[in-house]
Formats: sequence, C-alpha cells, structure tokens
Amino acid sequence: MSPAKTSHVTGPLTLDSPVTALRGVGPRIQEKLNHLGLRHVSDLLFYMPRRYIDRTRLYPIGSLRPGTSAQVEGTIELTQVKYGKRRSLLCRISDGTGALTVRFFHFSKSQQNRLQRGMRIRCFGQARFGAQTIEMIHPEYQLFEANESPAVEETLTPVYPATEGLQQSSLRKLAAQSLSILERAENGLTELLPDALLEEFTLPDLKTAITYVHKPPPDAQINELIEGTHPAQQRLAFEELLAQYLSLQRLRRATQSRPAMPLQANTDVVDQFTRSLPFTLTRAQRKALAEITGDLGKEIPMLRLLQGDVGSGKTVVAALAALQAIEAGYQAAFMVPTELLAEQHYRTLQGWFDAIGVEVLLFTGKLGNRERKQLLETLSTNRRCLAVGTHALFQESITFEALRLVIIDEQHRFGVHQRLSLLEKGKQGDIIPHQLIMTATPIPRTLAMTLYADLDISVIDELPPGRQPINTVAIPTTRREEVIERIQRACKEHRQVYWVCTLIEESEALQCEAAVDTSEYLARKLPGVKVGLVHGRMKAREKERAMAAFRGGEIQLLVATTVIEVGVDVPHASLMIIENAERLGLFQLHQLRGRIGRGDNRSDCVLLYLPPLSETARIRLDTMRNTNNGFEIARKDLELRGPGEMLGTRQTGLPELRIADLIRDAKLLPRVHAAAHMLLKEYPDRVQALIDRWLGPATRYSKV
Ligand code: ADP
Ligand code: MG
Repeated sequence: MSPAKTSHVTGPLTLDSPVTALRGVGPRIQEKLNHLGLRHVSDLLFYMPRRYIDRTRLYPIGSLRPGTSAQVEGTIELTQVKYGKRRSLLCRISDGTGALTVRFFHFSKSQQNRLQRGMRIRCFGQARFGAQTIEMIHPEYQLFEANESPAVEETLTPVYPATEGLQQSSLRKLAAQSLSILERAENGLTELLPDALLEEFTLPDLKTAITYVHKPPPDAQINELIEGTHPAQQRLAFEELLAQYLSLQRLRRATQSRPAMPLQANTDVVDQFTRSLPFTLTRAQRKALAEITGDLGKEIPMLRLLQGDVGSGKTVVAALAALQAIEAGYQAAFMVPTELLAEQHYRTLQGWFDAIGVEVLLFTGKLGNRERKQLLETLSTNRRCLAVGTHALFQESITFEALRLVIIDEQHRFGVHQRLSLLEKGKQGDIIPHQLIMTATPIPRTLAMTLYADLDISVIDELPPGRQPINTVAIPTTRREEVIERIQRACKEHRQVYWVCTLIEESEALQCEAAVDTSEYLARKLPGVKVGLVHGRMKAREKERAMAAFRGGEIQLLVATTVIEVGVDVPHASLMIIENAERLGLFQLHQLRGRIGRGDNRSDCVLLYLPPLSETARIRLDTMRNTNNGFEIARKDLELRGPGEMLGTRQTGLPELRIADLIRDAKLLPRVHAAAHMLLKEYPDRVQALIDRWLGPATRYSKV
C-alpha cells in the first residue's frame, strides 16, 4: 500500500484507526461496515473468512458436474436478455470442451454491454442443471480481451460473510489493507490466551493465525484450510468458543447472583388442574415438571431449558409452571415467536385456565388503543393473570405488577441474544423472574453444555401415547396431478390437509404470492373442497380467522407459507404436502412435518421435489422417509452439513460463530471449558477483552 494514497488521513494508520481511514471506504461503505460491527481496522482482522474457494486451477467446462463449484474460462458466444417468469441475462460461453450458460437475475445495462461476444470470461461458481446446458447463477467473474489470460490465483481465495451492498472483492481488499497495517504495527494485537495454554496445546500465536486465515500462503494445505482444521483456524476457533462460553457463564452468574421470588404453589390446585386435562401427563412430562417445580421453589432465579421433540407436549408443562407462579400470587408471561402461535396459545390456555379464574391476556403487534389500555389496566391490577404474546409483550410501555415467571417458547427462533434482552426487560427492581425456555432443537448433550452454559436442561424424551408414525413419501413435481387427486380422496374421507408453499428466496413477499397463486389453482382443481389460505402478509385477524376455520373443520385444505412452521397445533390435520422439499434443510422439514401426526389418526406427508436431486438432497429426503425421530434427524443433519458450513442461526437459535463450527470443533470443548476456568481464576482481567473481541461490545450484560 503506498502511503501517498492514504494522504487524506493524518498520522500513520494503526489497528485502532477507524475503518474510514482505509482506502475505498466512503460514507456508504462505512455504514455497511458499521452495520456488521466493523468500526476499527482491528475489527476487520477478526471478520473471518467463512470459507475458501479454489481459484488456483481452471477446469474444462466439459468436466463440470452439477453441484460442484469450480473456476472455468471461456469465450462469450452469445449474450441475451430472456423474459420469462423472471427477467434474466443469459450469457453463453464455451471453451472447446463444452458450453456453459451464465445467468444473472440482477444486472445493469452497462454490465450487459460489457459481456460482449468474443470477450473472454473467467467465472467461479456452482454448476447446476440448466435448460440446455449446465448453468452458473451469479458467478463471480472477470472479463478480458481474447488475447489476454491473467495468471490464476496462487493461493486459496477467502470468502467473507457478505452483506448487501458490500462486494466480496471490497471485503478482500479491506482485509488485505488491514493485514499490512498489522504487519507494520508496533503494538500488535493483544494476546489474550495465557502463554501456558499456548504452549500446552502448541497453538500458533495470534498474529500468525490471523495472517494465515486471511492470506493463506501459496504452499498452504488446501484441504485442511477448506475443512477448517488447520492449526491457525483451530486456534482462532478455540479462542472464539472460549469467549462464547465465558460470556454465557458470566451471564448465568450475573443473573443468579440476583434474588428471585420463591414460588411455592398449593399442590392441591396443581393436582386438580392436572386432573381436569383431557389427557394424563406422560412420565417425561411429569419428570420435567418436577424439575421445574424444584427450581421455582428457590430464591435464585430458574434458568431452565425444556427440550422436547415437536409434538412432545411442552405447552402443558409450561402452563403448569405458570399456574404455580399464579397460585403463589404472581404473574407469568409466555412469549412466542409468531402472532399465529400467540393466538393459538391464548386460545388453548384460556380453555385450561378459565375454570379456575385465571385471566389470560393476549399481546400482539397491532393492538388498538382501547384494547391496549384495558390490557395494561389488568396487568397492573390483577395478579391472577398470564400474558401471552409475541415480543410485543416486552415493549417499554408494558409494565407488570408482579411478573415472576417468564416462559419463552420456540427459543430457536429468537436466538441467544434476544433472549437475554428479555431477561433485562423482565426484571423488576432487584428481583429477576424465573425463566423457562422451550425448544424443539434436539442438540447433543455435550454441545448443549457449551451453548447453554447458562441453562439447566430438562428433556421430554417421549411422545404422548397413541401417536402413529407419519408415513412420508417423496414425489417429483412431475406427478403433482396425482398428489392433487390424493387430496381429493383425503377430503372425501374428511381428512384435513396442509399444503405448504416454500421458496428458496428469502423474500417473504414472493412466498406469499406463491401461496395466493397456489390456493387459487388448487381451488380450481378441487371443486367441492373448501380451500383456505394463511400467509405472513395477512392481517393478524385474517390469519386467525383462517386458522380458526381450519381448526373448526370449515376449511379442509389450508394453503400456507412457512408461517405455520412453528408451534401450530391442529390435531385433526393428517395430510401435509410440502413443495420444494428438496430445498429445505432437514430440521425445517421436521418442524413443518411436526404439524401433523399430533392426534391419534394416521398421518401422511408428501415431499414434492423438483428433479434431479443433488446427492445431499436425496439423503435428506430419504432421512425424512425413514424416520420421525427428531434426535435422529438432527444427527443426520449435522452429519450432512459440509465442513465449515455454519449451523443456520435462524434454524436453531445457536449463536452466530465467526470461525468455530460447533460440530467440527466439538472436540475442542473440554479444553475450552478447562481454559475458561483457568482464565477466570488466574487472568480475570482478560475475560472482558476476550468477550468484546469475539462477541462485540454490544453483548455487555453488565446491567443484568
Ligand atoms: P410441542 O411440544 O410441540 O409444543 P404441544 O404442547 O403443542 O407440543 O402438544 C402437542 C399436542 O399433544 C397438543 O394437542 C397437546 O394437547 C397434546 N398433548 C400434550 N400432552 C399430552 C399427553 N400427555 N397425552 C396426550 N396428548 C397430549
Ligand atoms: Mg409448541
């Protein structure tokens, strides 16, 4: 980097310089970087490559197989805009061994003009089946004149977690600039791991590790790097896991150093309630409940995770916990991730609690002023109440008279940090409410220990009796008409059916549109069948009306987007069709399918897929056909994820990690735990710095 180019900055660049001091960072880029939590040069050093791509070789186009990622080079033969369902720019290239179509859905006029016939293009991307030839969609590419051929890269190219408006190429340049500053810095990065630890485990030092991961040397072990097992990566992963673990540990200690109200309920009332239920609790439910009751009776706040597969009956256990709080004279709150689920729980809980004079309140996003005032009035006067709602429950303006228990359902939808902010909102004066957190994510115990270092765990490991395994089949979309006939027959037998519209695009709008189209199409195809629709863009009241009609049997076929993915409980529904099943992850498929098979009638699930299937998609669908067991499905899911691939945070609520991979690096965990104890004992002053470095200052919980 020539100093002349950075002359607009006064003084030499250091690791503490703001990102704006780097070349190429104007206000727009600065904003994007800040959004990612990147404010200083040193932050960029800890913005880790998510993976690497191999651009050290060129592959013959003829050798490309769908599903593989590779770099190819060829001559542009034709560029044209195609107007179909979605406008796209197609560019056909060939290298003498075969032809490839490059497809762009987003493109500019000038981009189109540059992709001229006769130009050479070098692309890196994933090959997939296309209409005529193999395709690459939005590859990274370089253009050059026919007689040029720049050298290929000498070493692996890092790929950073991108954000809209920030190109990989600029992230790479920024990382390179930051590295050269590190190279020259007098006061480099502070080593926070104790020497003893580094020696004991022969870990490389921080500067070496950081340099290696951003800029692997040409002789780097490509496989190790791609798999994330190189000592440089392992060292950083170790440090990150340590920071995560320390942060959760500290949170737990901070929370539990505060008093909670012991909630001792009259057991007669609890027994009476249990007897009034239309079913008897399973052994697993009773065991979990006993553990919760034990915690509630203490003066330290409960921090308990209730794990149980979809349909295992977590709601009733939560209701019994709430009852204990209420019978002890205090209020409880029950938070869920979607309005649909809030409405449903409201209805269920009201059904159970009405008879014993407990008022159930519903808080969702859009409350009318009058409604809201009335709810707040009740919260401040009536202690015998349970508030159910989405995160709207924890708005500033809502105050409870005596909230002593907070229940969070489907915690994987909230993520660790959101949960923590709730804790903050739930506190009253010095007192912290007890917390019960529920999830269907069945992660192995060793992992749970680290991820939930701050939580005790109860597991519901059996389903209520009488459940029949769901019969699952995978059918190609070419046989869609047969599936529609099958719905016709099912409706004649008075069965109720879900049709789930999913799309790979994260766009909710497109997903809703598809659901509208599908419901119209199915209504035409199935005269005599009452078809309903529920999607995320409908008003809460419309959604609830559709759900109520489905629950009540007035609607036989409910076309839905993934809004029904979590928690929805309509026990009569017994057939589910899932579209684009090949594109969904195993855990999401399992969650969706968990909406059926909740009663004691036979249930069927049809996974509609678009052939041909990739190898992993085939294994996913096979797994779904072979088992209904959430733990088994989770195990397979973890196995199938490629090395370095992150566990989706949205899916599982696991913390977002920068370099560690909880599955790949699980073997580090015992050492991480040991290191945490050593640090806390011998170097307590380094703990905050470690947490700040990896989790960012946003995660200071000092106020808890
Ligand atoms: P999840 O654990 O997925 O949240 P729910 O709490 O929604 O499961 O329960 C699923 C269904 O099973 C509900 O209809 C519920 O009423 C019913 N249920 C819960 N416990 C039992 C039980 N012990 N016996 C029979 N049915 C039960
Ligand atoms: Mg549930």
